[in-house]
Amino acid sequence: MIRLCAAAWLALVMALAARASAAKGAALQRFEFIEPHMGTLFQIVLFAPDAAVAKPAAKAAFARIEALDRIMSDYDTDSELNRLCRQPPRTAVPVGAELFDILQRSIALAEKTNGAFDITLGPVIRLWRETRRRKKLPPDAQRLAAMQASGFSKLRLNTADHTVTLLNDGMQLDLGGIAKGYAAEAALAALKQQGFPHAMVAASGDLALGDAPPGAKGWNVKVSPFGENSPHPLTLLVAHVGVSTSGDAEQFVEIGGVRYSHIVDPATGLGLTAPVAVTIVTRSPTLADGLATACSVLSFAAAKNVVEASDESVRLIVHRRNADGSFQTESAGKNPPGLISSP
Ligand code: ADP
Ligand code: MG
Repeated sequence: MIRLCAAAWLALVMALAARASAAKGAALQRFEFIEPHMGTLFQIVLFAPDAAVAKPAAKAAFARIEALDRIMSDYDTDSELNRLCRQPPRTAVPVGAELFDILQRSIALAEKTNGAFDITLGPVIRLWRETRRRKKLPPDAQRLAAMQASGFSKLRLNTADHTVTLLNDGMQLDLGGIAKGYAAEAALAALKQQGFPHAMVAASGDLALGDAPPGAKGWNVKVSPFGENSPHPLTLLVAHVGVSTSGDAEQFVEIGGVRYSHIVDPATGLGLTAPVAVTIVTRSPTLADGLATACSVLSFAAAKNVVEASDESVRLIVHRRNADGSFQTESAGKNPPGLISSP
């Protein structure tokens, strides 16, 4: 019988484990699923031994997204969010764990960004949606009234009993700037919990990436900040992070020769006009989504301050389209461990 000393034994166990995982890795195949949710297409990519196990796993992850949409939608009049907004003001309303969680994260982000990211901008966002449909700017009085009904200091959360109080009349919450990242993060967690850690979930510009594809160092993510055919693609190698890009590539309106984004500036009550797109890479896809929206509103210097002050490592990339058609990229912050390589 061969006797092994402890170190040799450990080395053998490790070698066998490596071979076992390589064999397991080789047996895994790539599966891709797409479903419409939250007004966009959600894509799931996962690695699994066969379709018989991959399909139900993706189905459960999509079900998780659908359940979150029923809670957080601002379109569905019956969502938990809209039911909360219909309660009389100044009443403490109990809400479920998920709604409380995303409200809490949103308020934290509003505080850190001095209100550049503000989910209480619902009245302004609704008016802006109407503006985009009509292609006509709203009267000042209407715009100012909508701004008056907003403000995150008017939203109170009580962590002791999970109640939410809206202090102003006419308040409307809008989670459009953070819910997709939240849902992608939750769907990725659902896949991992079912035994599929090599997975990613993408909701247009919001991506949640899990363990790298078997045998690879990370996921190759192509960011096209100014649309699919943009001549300015950026390729990142990432794992275990969220990557979010916000900009006016898809949703914008042109009024009087000015191009406005679907992200509103709380200071003006109008859509943003700067030809800028923002990419954020950080551990949490929820934070990446919210920060990409917030940093679109902020100047580069202010956005840089926000990411540098963050407890989490955050990489900020600001893409600018110049008047002469050229592009420029500025970057700040700190790479999270999952950002393996970037330009
Ligand atoms: P996308 O929806 O294209 O991924 P974002 O994540 O930036 O882009 O979200 C834009 C949405 O966020 C808007 O449609 C609106 O619902 C909401 N929103 C707009 N402006 C703000 C803002 N300043 N703060 C928070 N949410 C906003
Ligand atoms: Mg966002």
